[in-house]
Amino acid sequence: MTRTSVLLVMTISLIMFIHPCIIKAQDNALTKEKIQAALDEAYAKFKDVKEGKNADYIKELATVDPKIFGIAVVTADGQVITKGDIDSKVSIQSVSKVFTMAQDIEELGHQAIQDKIGVDATGEVFNSIVAIERMRGKEINPLVNPGAIAATSLVAGKDSAVKWKHIVDVQSAFAGRQLSLNMPVYISEAGDNLRNQAIAHLLLAYGRMYFDPVQATDIYTKQCALNVNAKDLATMAGTLANGGVNPLTKKKVVSQETVLYTLPVMATAGLYDDSGIWYYNSGLPAKSGVGGGLLAVCPGKFGIAVVSPPLDAAGNSVKAQLVIKYVVEKLKVNPFLIQPK
Ligand code: GLU
Repeated sequence: MTRTSVLLVMTISLIMFIHPCIIKAQDNALTKEKIQAALDEAYAKFKDVKEGKNADYIKELATVDPKIFGIAVVTADGQVITKGDIDSKVSIQSVSKVFTMAQDIEELGHQAIQDKIGVDATGEVFNSIVAIERMRGKEINPLVNPGAIAATSLVAGKDSAVKWKHIVDVQSAFAGRQLSLNMPVYISEAGDNLRNQAIAHLLLAYGRMYFDPVQATDIYTKQCALNVNAKDLATMAGTLANGGVNPLTKKKVVSQETVLYTLPVMATAGLYDDSGIWYYNSGLPAKSGVGGGLLAVCPGKFGIAVVSPPLDAAGNSVKAQLVIKYVVEKLKVNPFLIQPK
């Protein structure tokens, strides 16, 4: 055999060996078309679901159109795929807690958050006073109210106005656009948040509130009243999925290390009392809010979010859970779905 024919035979065998791998890789590739098809199917499948009810303990939330239904995915490489109503905005509510916690981790380090707030799930409802009392202000978790108000109180800033601006700037950087306040929701909750104020004062009594409790509760209430649509939430999740760099603006919002410590708290405490059931069924760190938003992070791949106000008994959007679980299964992106070697 000549040298050329030997080379030719080697090249052909190499191609024959690699070829099936190429096909396989293409099969598993998460294309825009595949994601769009999954969103379209999920939308059609769940659009007529009637279960659930808007939150009404914040009076303004009861007046939000329950028919708002928007789905968005923002991939780590910056593609935006949507279905349904992505223009209507709802208040971000508890979903904001993730990003204030991330802001604290970024500014103070992950150990400080573990020490000053605590990261274990409380095992109690999101606005539990018993949880604070039982642990004497410790282990109060940044994704439920006591820990979240403490997290807000820890944000850098010499006064309330500076802290508030800092929070809006960070939440906006995650969303990739300037977020603004839903004034009616803020006024409605601010006039009726004695329980959150009590939580903040009790934490102060235990030395676990790091700013004036009345002002910290007020900033926290405003933070929960920021207006977002499904695309904003998906971009926020997409930024976490992309290791802290916003996939649309390409700006670094937080470090990779901050994301590393943010996602586990979402995994263990993101969906109130159903956090375990959620994680068991989806494998994705997520966070919901009583405004009807729910976002989930598929690490390294994409952020997904749904806005649909009717909530189940645990306080999570009914349609959002159905849609995200469907899409995760359809696209086979549960991180625990492991292909044996
Ligand atoms: N602002 C709400 C509260 O403090 C947030 C609740 C939530 O979304 O879980 O009650």
